[in-house]
Amino acid sequence: MVSERAGSSEEANDGAQLNHAVAERLEPVARDERDEYVLVGGGLQNALIALALLERRPDTRLTLIEREPELGGNHTWCLHEGDVPAELSSVVASLMERRWPAHDVIFPRARRRLPSAYLALTSAGLRRALSSRFASAPAARLLTANVLAVEPGRAVLQGGAAVHGQLLVDARGPGQLAARAAGYQKFLGLELELSSGTAPELPLLMDASVPQLDGFRFVYVLPWAPARVLVEDTYYSTSPELDRPLLRERVLAYAAGRGMQVRSVLREEHGVLPLPSELPEPASPAGLVCAGYAGGLFHPTTGYSMPVALRFAAFLAARPAAAALGADYQRWRAAHARQVRFCLLLNRMLFGAFAPEERYHVLERFYGLPQSTIRRFYALETLASDRARIICGRPPRGFSMRRWLAGGAPA
Ligand SMILES: Cc1cc2nc3c(=O)[nH]c(=O)nc-3n(C[C@H](O)[C@H](O)[C@H](O)COP(=O)(O)OP(=O)(O)OC[C@H]3O[C@@H](n4cnc5c(N)ncnc54)[C@H](O)[C@@H]3O)c2cc1C
Repeated sequence: MVSERAGSSEEANDGAQLNHAVAERLEPVARDERDEYVLVGGGLQNALIALALLERRPDTRLTLIEREPELGGNHTWCLHEGDVPAELSSVVASLMERRWPAHDVIFPRARRRLPSAYLALTSAGLRRALSSRFASAPAARLLTANVLAVEPGRAVLQGGAAVHGQLLVDARGPGQLAARAAGYQKFLGLELELSSGTAPELPLLMDASVPQLDGFRFVYVLPWAPARVLVEDTYYSTSPELDRPLLRERVLAYAAGRGMQVRSVLREEHGVLPLPSELPEPASPAGLVCAGYAGGLFHPTTGYSMPVALRFAAFLAARPAAAALGADYQRWRAAHARQVRFCLLLNRMLFGAFAPEERYHVLERFYGLPQSTIRRFYALETLASDRARIICGRPPRGFSMRRWLAGGAPA
């Protein structure tokens, strides 16, 4: 998937870079030969859509447009194995770099091992999978260009050129999310090579036994190998500020405190994900759908987007582009919106009714619930009974109705 500048393209020039060989095949683009799909934003969501479409039909006419020189950013993405839709099991298998049979959580007064498998992939693996899939897809092309506007039927590139398609999928990432944030999930992770000591055997999704600073704080530990581990310092905070030097120090201090001596830092990743209190449904005019984090297709409380991104990719791949946004889509979206509404309430409560240093009680209580409820919550597949379990009964310690009614101000 080599991106080269294609100065001769009628459709896209002026700052756009094309996969040359494929671009030549597609030129000139007659109106009735326009792409079936134009995927705007080459991150997780559209990468999964491209892989799902091309696996089903390698001759799908699609253009994937990314403004950065590389697709997929710099991420480690994890998901629970149960979140993989059956239709996408081979796509996911081609992406997965590590599988663990279980995972752990630790809180000040509780620890628990959950026997549900956990999977991890990286941006580098995503790029490899896309590269190999595009290489055998005669009508798929990658365009490196900054998209200024996405409209039904076309994406307008910087410089004024446009790429036309039957269905535009706008997935330009968390930065494009039009929502009011209740708070943020922010984190910095270092992938460490160890000289002595060993990483835990299983992923530690939350180690909240650490000092509670800047909101609910936990450390996330992903043991790639006995001597290679990703350690992420994570906060549920009302501030989006990320003090990277400070968090680097805290990650290294955490590793040292767990007996892991660091030989070198192999890579770093960070994120500031808005966790909304309100999430307006994006308009969906014919021929255009907003997806991924930007389109509200993520879990408002965990910030995870993988389960919904996979589901949406499977949904699109099962339908022709021209018929993708019909009544089925409205039903699919309404079911997602119902799940989202519950999480928005939780976010308002988490950030509004608890003092920052008390927020961990909510998660500590949550992890005492039945495993099936926890699984469905992460997957955004809660049943009414799960929602009742999560919200009813004695509230977690630290809950303050007065604080909540006062808009999150100290009680
Ligand atoms: C470091 C990190 C780790 C995460 N880990 C997990 C995890 O383990 N599990 C999980 O479920 N979720 C995780 N998330 C949350 C979520 O899954 C990711 O944010 C995910 O990448 C969102 O996918 P997306 O396709 O919506 O957006 P992105 O992956 O951010 O992709 C958007 C793409 O659009 C491009 N773009 C933006 N504007 C334009 C433009 N004008 N023109 C062209 N291209 C443009 C961007 O460059 C980017 O490549 C993580 C997030 C981060 C930041």
